[in-house]
Amino acid sequence: MIYWRELLMLRLLRVFTMLRINRLLRTGGTVHPFTEYFKGFEKSESVRRIFGGETEKMLRNLKVEFTWTGGYMWVNAANGHLMVSSKYLKNGDKVDIYLDIIHELVHVKQLMNGEELFDANYGYAERPTEVEAYRHAVDEAKRLGLSDERICTYLRTEWMSDRDFEGLAKTLNLNCSSQAYARQA
Ligand SMILES: [Zn+2]
Repeated sequence: MIYWRELLMLRLLRVFTMLRINRLLRTGGTVHPFTEYFKGFEKSESVRRIFGGETEKMLRNLKVEFTWTGGYMWVNAANGHLMVSSKYLKNGDKVDIYLDIIHELVHVKQLMNGEELFDANYGYAERPTEVEAYRHAVDEAKRLGLSDERICTYLRTEWMSDRDFEGLAKTLNLNCSSQAYARQA
């Protein structure tokens, strides 16, 4: 289902331009400025809530790498680069991609603050760094008018166990119990 707010959001943010993506797919995976591919994120209220007065500076300094290794996107804790699957960027749902970027930008901020992103003392769905990242993404999804059902589908990645998924949904006050959800990769 397409929501008008999603369309509006996508137009406003111009998540990326197909021209650049096509060029990228030809040239392969190298390091690029985030702002070269992802436009207008400094205008997102959600992004400003993450970085505050540092928003422009953080986005300006952020590097992005495109990779063919699969998956969605993640932050390389060794150098702070945002790692993005080229296949996902090309074929993935645009709203999912936008929400994933919000999620990963929270990790970028956490890393800058010296937080441990992969604290093994916690399971995935209880890890404070993950909960904070999901909370920002879900708040933004709600602000855009997405239904709980749509958000639950977004949350349900194939590598998340049933237990993790149910726990996370509960933590985020989402009603995800009515059906089996599965994000399209
Ligand atoms: Zn995360």
